[in-house]
Amino acid sequence: MTVFARIIAGEIPADKVYEDDRCVAFRDIDPKAPVHVLVVPRKPLVSVAEAGEEDAELLGHLLLVAARVAREQGLDERGYRLVTNVGVDGGQTVGHLHIHVLGGRPMGWPPG
Ligand code: AMP
Repeated sequence: MTVFARIIAGEIPADKVYEDDRCVAFRDIDPKAPVHVLVVPRKPLVSVAEAGEEDAELLGHLLLVAARVAREQGLDERGYRLVTNVGVDGGQTVGHLHIHVLGGRPMGWPPG
């Protein structure tokens, strides 16, 4: 069981900013920007690489929730970045799909 599955199950605490029947959004425990929220589906998909056609609506919902969280965190005016890491080279450390919502400072490009 991943740490995110344990958060979804209520076994460990998280600073939640949004939740619904399909996903939960909470603040990253080690923030990389002034605003750093993770949007996590309740369904335990490992990453977008494991998602199938049956997950298309869920993936769209996660993006819309990420945009909603960004708006509610006051990031709309200056902008923000959405990231989903996949696998070792992608820098993924938790094997449960999540979208990072990062904002509150200019983001570098290309990413490291
Ligand atoms: P990734 O490296 O893309 O898999 O992102 C995993 C993220 O989860 C990292 O930014 C971690 O700081 C974050 N993280 C790990 N454990 C927790 C936790 N218990 N609560 C909130 N965020 C966490």
